[in-house]
Amino acid sequence: MNRKEFAEFLLGKTEHTKDEYEAMYPERNLDSNAMVTRFAPSPTGFVHIGSLFVSFLDRKYASQTNGVCYLRIEDTDTKRTVDNGVSNIIRDLANFDINFDEGMISDTEDKGNYGPYLQSSREDIYKAYAKDLIEKDLAYPCFLSPEEMEDIRNMQEDIKARIGIYGKYAKYRNLSVEEAVEKINNGEKYIIRLKSPGNFDNKIIFEDVIRGRMEFNENDLDIVIIKSDGLPTYHFAHAIDDHLMHTTHVIRGDEWVSSIPLHVQLFDVLGFKAPKYLHISPLMKKEGETVRKLSKRKDAEAAVSYYHEEGIPTYAVLLYIMTVANSNFEAWLDANPNGKIEDFELTFNKMSASGSLFDMDKLLNISKNYISRLNKNEVYDMAINYTKEYDSELYDLLTKYKDYSIDVFNIEREQAKPRKDLAKFSEIRPYLWYMYDELYEPETYEFMNVSDKDEISRILSTYMDKYYDVTDKDTWFNNIKLLADELGYASNMKEYKANPENFKGNVADIATVLRVALTSKSQTPDLYEIMRLFGKDRVLNRYKKFI
Ligand code: GLU
Repeated sequence: MNRKEFAEFLLGKTEHTKDEYEAMYPERNLDSNAMVTRFAPSPTGFVHIGSLFVSFLDRKYASQTNGVCYLRIEDTDTKRTVDNGVSNIIRDLANFDINFDEGMISDTEDKGNYGPYLQSSREDIYKAYAKDLIEKDLAYPCFLSPEEMEDIRNMQEDIKARIGIYGKYAKYRNLSVEEAVEKINNGEKYIIRLKSPGNFDNKIIFEDVIRGRMEFNENDLDIVIIKSDGLPTYHFAHAIDDHLMHTTHVIRGDEWVSSIPLHVQLFDVLGFKAPKYLHISPLMKKEGETVRKLSKRKDAEAAVSYYHEEGIPTYAVLLYIMTVANSNFEAWLDANPNGKIEDFELTFNKMSASGSLFDMDKLLNISKNYISRLNKNEVYDMAINYTKEYDSELYDLLTKYKDYSIDVFNIEREQAKPRKDLAKFSEIRPYLWYMYDELYEPETYEFMNVSDKDEISRILSTYMDKYYDVTDKDTWFNNIKLLADELGYASNMKEYKANPENFKGNVADIATVLRVALTSKSQTPDLYEIMRLFGKDRVLNRYKKFI
């Protein structure tokens, strides 16, 4: 049996040969600086905020260079695959405006000329390349049983040797074709391993786009390329896919850094030009004095679904992600508060090589600023979208009193420095419940300096009898001063400060009473606006309710 026949004997006939596949996926027709990136998750159904970060970088770099960003699903580890895993990823990322030019568009369908984009549908391709390696004596069948593998591992641990199949542990590396065929005819199970041409004592230099120059020992591990289920390992599959799909930049988590020598070697052995790599450090969380990885298990904010559930606007999350991606983005945003993400060009040299802190307070602050700059209709729409899913009672009110609600969102909005107090829509109920009679059932009233009930009643009734006027803000405020004067409170703060003992209090105390009796809260947006929106009858009713 010659090696070609041997390869066929091991892996069967493929629909196409390696050379045919090479011809089927020609170079892409793009500008020379265009980046071809891919997001390549396993379909586990869970999208980590770190994956959002990586896919965002993929999308952004491809977009800003007129390149291509595609979605490839790495489902060769069938144990990790869940139902709807792909469509969940597509949906979660689309929520953040991360859409792909090519790749999977549902759990089963894809678009684009470089597919299929689901690795489990590419078995024939991987086998064609594995067969080529077998023919060239760069891969071989290995008959080590799981028990033998375990024994080897235990022994290596005992004697503190490097773990893996190399050197003398690579027992079947040099089996002849005839010996291998005989074993297979006897029913022995096998997998396909790379016949690594490397020598561990050699050093290799690798240039990571973000981390710069790195030095490694050359790979000498005979890693598995085709598993017993006929599917490839990640190492083998990603090399072939990134080659055939003409990926120019691989952006991925730094858990793959230790595989760099292997991957460099695989590209070499396969005769491919390797893409450039950007290895991204995990997002870190500060907890007291310690800094640790954001964890799917411990941290709700590790899941991208969290941001949707909390009603943090997706664009605010992306703005925050930009600050993590490029250290100069924040200064740019300060200088261009209305600047759009697409107007800012991400650069490699402003990316951090070490783990970035994921700072929720900062994110919420960015979100607050962002929401404050939206117009009333935009905020209303977001409130509607959020409450529709998470607060049907409030949703009904926002819909029933649409125009009123839009006006509520407009309080202190269209001004040079808009009010900033809403960071996420999960806070929408505590933010505006008191603006709706249907929700208004205060348990306590946050009165401040004036808390005597009779005095408060006197203030409220005098105000309603003589001074209520919302024609315009000046008139309104003037009347409150007149009210203050009439009841023995200073309407002029200077006079009050000079002789506080001459007064019961000052005009601010009066305003506080009017505010708290109306809303039960000591802090609200502009009181004049609230009164104007309410109208006299509702103000009167609220005061009656208080009394
Ligand atoms: N499927 C790999 C993972 O889930 C992708 C790594 C890569 O982007 O190459 O980590």
